[in-house]
Amino acid sequence: MIDVRKFYLNGEWVKPVSTQEFPILSPASEEQIGVTILGNEQDVNKAVAAAVEAFKSFSLTKKEERLQLLEKVLEITKDRFDDLAWAMTKEMGAPISMARDAQADSGVGHLEGFIHSLKQLVERETLSNGDILVREPIGVCGLITPWNWPINQIALKVIPVLATGCTCILKPSEHTPLSAQIYAEIIDEAGCPPGVFNLIQGDGPTVGAAMSAHKDIQMMSFTGSTRAGTDVSRRAADTVKRVTLELGGKSPNIVFSDCNLEKRVTESVKECFLNSGQSCDAPTRLLVEKSCYGEVLEIAKRAALSQKVADPTEEGDHIGPLFDKIQFDRVQNMIKVGIDEGAELLVGGTGRPSGFDKGWFVKPTIFSNVTNEMRIAHEEIFGPVLAIIAFDDEADAINIANDTPYGLAAYLQTDDMDRAERVASRLRAGAVHINGGGFNYGSPFGGFKQSGNGREGGKMGLEDFQEVKTLHFG
Ligand code: NAD
Repeated sequence: MIDVRKFYLNGEWVKPVSTQEFPILSPASEEQIGVTILGNEQDVNKAVAAAVEAFKSFSLTKKEERLQLLEKVLEITKDRFDDLAWAMTKEMGAPISMARDAQADSGVGHLEGFIHSLKQLVERETLSNGDILVREPIGVCGLITPWNWPINQIALKVIPVLATGCTCILKPSEHTPLSAQIYAEIIDEAGCPPGVFNLIQGDGPTVGAAMSAHKDIQMMSFTGSTRAGTDVSRRAADTVKRVTLELGGKSPNIVFSDCNLEKRVTESVKECFLNSGQSCDAPTRLLVEKSCYGEVLEIAKRAALSQKVADPTEEGDHIGPLFDKIQFDRVQNMIKVGIDEGAELLVGGTGRPSGFDKGWFVKPTIFSNVTNEMRIAHEEIFGPVLAIIAFDDEADAINIANDTPYGLAAYLQTDDMDRAERVASRLRAGAVHINGGGFNYGSPFGGFKQSGNGREGGKMGLEDFQEVKTLHFG
């Protein structure tokens, strides 16, 4: 049994005040594989007190000292790379090859991106009017992360805290406590001063809510659902905290007939199914130019039928299960909704794929003849479910793409680079991926509209954790 019943507070592994146990369940076998503790408000208060105390000295450290700490964290993250990957395979079902190549890799990649950005970051500059502008750490930060890309999200928040001289309390998803515990072990081994980084396990309504409302926390950095993110903002309002939010998405992927259809559509389908569709920026709406609609359906169908589903502990490029029963039931329900709404089931459907009688495995599914009014076209499903929508021309594609409350990412497939630039400039999204262009560590990541605010990663991801002070000399 995996035991995650200690919290990391003030540089030590301690027994929490709360004794409320919570099971860690395997998404592949449905069996209990471990246990954690859901913390309470007293645990939060202890962690915040440690972070407040540590801020007094850590906020005064020099950039060089913080860079040394990050270099040490990098070295140890590389040593613990396999432990992180295996933890995510066990607790959220990421297939082990992908858990290494993408999930654990993000822990290293973001760290390298932030180290590079911190070296460039100007913490003191003279304005043209003679005043001096100083960038200082904002203070004690509350960090709340989801279960779908556990280490990616933790790294995007914890590293800027350490880089800028802030202190923090991390509350990972209650469903993925193990990878967070290993991350805390890494920070501890790197010699981070006590109280700078604190880890509490727990749920949103208790620990998350107590952090959001706490008077001694200056900033909340939240990643998760739009529902929980707005709740954090509401609770944080009374103490006028800075709140940065990375929320959901329903990202459009526009396919023009002038692209290499075979390659671009096949890769688009795989991209949608990656991580079993449990990515906030997954391209889940495939918008297809009418002139190539029939051809695209054939290619997409072939790609989906070739998508393997297998146990997450096996090596390979298959997808694993969804992470829990709630997610499984939700995806099953949304597939049923799509059928009831009159969309055409091109591949997949309800039920488990053949060969599986347990675990939260679902069939890779594609709907065609979808209209943007259907629920499957505008609600985040968070499973390997693709909705294909036809469009007439460029203007129509842009309208459909932007007709969503979200604005996290967008994808474009075209061989006409003038068109790519033109369309990208009209899309209301924080990132536009053109012809398979992937995210590069060190670039900002974040959303327009209800996908959030603030940016994570690179220089902007550091600045979000800083206050600006102006010195006026007489
Ligand atoms: P969730 O909102 O249920 O939980 C996320 C985190 O918030 C967890 O740690 C949870 O315990 C906590 N939480 C829940 N309710 C809370 C509350 N009222 N107050 C404070 N904290 C609360 O989301 P999830 O199911 O873990 O993750 C999936 C969601 O996350 C999806 O909507 C996905 O799009 C989004 N997501 C966004 C990004 C991004 O960068 N934009 C990245 C990954 C996931």
